[in-house]
Amino acid sequence: MYVQAVHTVKEIRDNLEIARRAGQVIGLIPTMGALHAGHIQNIRTARKECGLVVVSIFVNPLQFGPNEDYARYPRPLAEDLEMCRKNGVDVVFAPTVDEMYPFPQLTFVESPRVSQHLCGAHRPGHFRAVATVVLKLFNIVQPHRAYFGEKDAQQLAVIRAMTRDLNLPIRIVGVPTVREADGLALSSRNQYLGPEERRAAPTLYRSLQEAAGRVRSGETDPAKVCEAGLAVLKQEPLIRVQYFELVDPVEMQPVGEVRSPVLIAAAVWIGSTRLIDNVLV
Ligand code: AMP
Repeated sequence: MYVQAVHTVKEIRDNLEIARRAGQVIGLIPTMGALHAGHIQNIRTARKECGLVVVSIFVNPLQFGPNEDYARYPRPLAEDLEMCRKNGVDVVFAPTVDEMYPFPQLTFVESPRVSQHLCGAHRPGHFRAVATVVLKLFNIVQPHRAYFGEKDAQQLAVIRAMTRDLNLPIRIVGVPTVREADGLALSSRNQYLGPEERRAAPTLYRSLQEAAGRVRSGETDPAKVCEAGLAVLKQEPLIRVQYFELVDPVEMQPVGEVRSPVLIAAAVWIGSTRLIDNVLV
């Protein structure tokens, strides 16, 4: 087995032409690289459902804030290609920034309501840039199906809203979060954590589970549910909470009372690393 890596829009389009004409189902897994078992889960899911599997690797500068980690974001392309090869990916699309943005980007797509709370409130312009680059990738690759992790629940909600609202002929598939044995959600950013920080990190998931437990045992007041989760986070001095909220899983709006399924989502800082996680109850 061998995986082909292509770097230009023309190459990826030419590459997919034969598969498209042959009527193969094309699956796309957009990533920023530094692939881990979470990405692999998305790839495996696509592998089962599609005739041709494309992974894109692109660290999109537009979705990073001025003080965020764009420059230090890991870019281990050779290892990523090897992981793709081992997991049966057919084509990797790894464009340069110039290839994706040959001209100043004058057009953007956004879902303001879905982007209003949670990460959107703390990362201005982030989801607009994510939606825009994903729409570009959709138009470049023209997949039938595209795979996204539930770990980034608000991102998934934005992509679902964009796809539905703009009538994109693409099936969006959400893939359950892959975790370490101690509960920490896999993330390319986990490698920033020092040993003490890594020890503290699973507290994030524990706090979400504590909150989820309250909901399951009948608590309907979001404030009380958050209080229970925050109490767990407070026990860990290395953690600073950015947000801990209950929202509806489609529009990502705060809920006044827990009735139908609710997403409990949190973001924390551990040192200079920002981690997010969520559970759906
Ligand atoms: P990223 O490279 O971090 O932008 O992630 C690329 C895709 O992989 C996104 O759809 C993520 O939601 C997904 N992903 C990241 N971490 C995980 C995880 N732990 N489990 C499942 N999917 C994940």
